[in-house]
Amino acid sequence: MIKINVAEIQKSLVGSKKLVYEVTPEELEISPEDLEVVGPVRFTGTITNAGDVLLLQGKVTATVKRVCGRCLEEFTAVSTADVLEKYYPAGTVATEADALVYDGDLVDVAAALRESLVLAEPLKVLCKEDCKGLCPVCGANRNLHPCTCDTTRLDPRFSALKELLKK
Ligand SMILES: [Zn+2]
Ligand SMILES: [Zn+2]
Repeated sequence: MIKINVAEIQKSLVGSKKLVYEVTPEELEISPEDLEVVGPVRFTGTITNAGDVLLLQGKVTATVKRVCGRCLEEFTAVSTADVLEKYYPAGTVATEADALVYDGDLVDVAAALRESLVLAEPLKVLCKEDCKGLCPVCGANRNLHPCTCDTTRLDPRFSALKELLKK
């Protein structure tokens, strides 16, 4: 839970508060299955009284562990996600089913930061743009151990065809 006191900004329309936070993945309740975060999560942004809702805007940054889709090596990368979330006062009829609500003077922004980070995570990542991947013949990581295997004939479609022809 990361509670922000919004008593001040609720007093005036377009009242706004600058937020600079550094929190742990535990405080954000990010489970390693969702995203492996290394070190603190940083958030900078604002929360603004927009009349009927409070508007949370900003950027969340964390160092995360990723696995390269080509060579399967683990590496760390800095993930930055935009945060844009509306908070409705408890008891009001929210228009969206998954709307976030707040009660009294406190807004819990943990869910918004967590969701933004998890959703920003790309499905496929490479450790580097020109990652050479694993050798399909000997299995070596070709970034670390360049091998001399002949991989030209190893198009999987052709090898499957060859298997068929053998029968
Ligand atoms: Zn790689
Ligand atoms: Zn090889």
